Amino acid sequence: MDRNQILLKCQQEIAYSRINAQNQAIKNMMTARKNSKFAELELKEHELSFEIGKARAFGENIKEKQTKLQEIKNSKNAILLSLGLESSDLVPNYACKKCNDTGYINGQMCRCLKEKLSHEILNESGMAQLELQPFSAFSTDIAKDENHKSQLNKIKDIFEEIANKYPNTKYKTLILSGKTGVGKTFLASCLAKEMLDKGNLVTFISAFAMNNLFLSYHTSFGPEKAGYLDTLIDPDVLVIDDLGTEPILKNVTLEYFYLILSERSRLGKLTVITTNLAFDGIIDRYHERIFSRLVNKRESLLLHIDGQDLRLNK
Ligand SMILES: [Zn+2]
Repeated sequence: MDRNQILLKCQQEIAYSRINAQNQAIKNMMTARKNSKFAELELKEHELSFEIGKARAFGENIKEKQTKLQEIKNSKNAILLSLGLESSDLVPNYACKKCNDTGYINGQMCRCLKEKLSHEILNESGMAQLELQPFSAFSTDIAKDENHKSQLNKIKDIFEEIANKYPNTKYKTLILSGKTGVGKTFLASCLAKEMLDKGNLVTFISAFAMNNLFLSYHTSFGPEKAGYLDTLIDPDVLVIDDLGTEPILKNVTLEYFYLILSERSRLGKLTVITTNLAFDGIIDRYHERIFSRLVNKRESLLLHIDGQDLRLNK
């Protein structure tokens, strides 16, 4: 499936959810109106609302009528309750309250559609999103010693603070380096989960999968082209896991990686990177231009877990 087909599929799913919500509301309304008392009250409510409008236009006192209207509403609600319904069940309960399950707001893609689209593109490329873990699942059991444990706890605190303050955080790039198994991915996953729960659009992707998106972008020519990079640019939070494990493809990896980092930085979005590489390893592999994007005194926070002492370069 190319991006257009994926987009169509996502739009259809959202349309299906809209129709479902509308049908359910109609069904509930029909159930309520089968109750003759309810139907009668509904008619009275309409008449009275009309009278109130009229009286208001003539500058008459409407207080009494309004009290009566409220009584009718209360009686209607009591009947609904006896039918196992609430007044909110009579209007469509859309999954997305922002766009009412249309997928668009003023011609712009709604976050719900963007989210679905990026999820589907990742799935389609065989990169299902990793199951993100909450901070409550965080444990220092993996720590080798007390120092390692204290490093993990410090980073957890820093990440929680960033999650609480976002988007008003100084840091737009977080780099978590250290050997395999020291807990980098888990901590990044906790941060991603917290950001997701706060309503941000979050993508958690391995560097390997990111590289595949670069390649898809590089080798496609249709209107779907942009979508591959949008999947990396659109999210409020992008976690790139295990940077350094992907192959460096000529004219692809470094070029698009730089582009993504620049765009995200320009938009002030948070990028989190985990890597086994030490900082000189990052320069060797990605060269000065990318390194200086990543390691920027004003907005990068570099955290290194080495199992001995936590180095914070602020
Ligand atoms: Zn929406």
